[in-house]
Amino acid sequence: MIINIAIIIASVIFMEVFAILFHKYYMHGERGWAWHESHHRHTEGPFERNDLYAVCFSFIAAALFIAGTLWWSPLWYIGVGFTVYGVLYAIVHDGLVHQRWPFHYTPSKRLLWGYPHRLVLAHRMHHHVTTREGAVSFGFLWAEKPDRLKAQLKNPAG
Ligand SMILES: [Zn+2]
Ligand SMILES: [Zn+2]
Repeated sequence: MIINIAIIIASVIFMEVFAILFHKYYMHGERGWAWHESHHRHTEGPFERNDLYAVCFSFIAAALFIAGTLWWSPLWYIGVGFTVYGVLYAIVHDGLVHQRWPFHYTPSKRLLWGYPHRLVLAHRMHHHVTTREGAVSFGFLWAEKPDRLKAQLKNPAG
């Protein structure tokens, strides 16, 4: 039981580290930008090409559940971690930052030591640029202090 919970928590942490690297080097790289550009520019309609990344990751989660059921049960718990990460990502990124849900809510500075508010500010700063280069803050559940990000935006080299 404890080991399974540890697998789930480790998978969520792994996914955030993976997401930071994937977002920075693949999605903002030459190949990945073809889908991700839609997310940095205004697009028509409720969906954008960038949403295809979430679709791909949901297939990986489904594969983990299937493989975990058929062959090796730890994979099932890794699948739970992936899914938990996906839900947190959807709440923070699509919900809190981009307001893709049907109500308006922005976390106050006092909620949970201001961390959700900091996440929202950090990702808004990620969207300060509409180009592949020069963006800051590639994480979704982990964000540097807004002041540091502001300094990075002003002075990308330093
Ligand atoms: Zn981006
Ligand atoms: Zn975004």
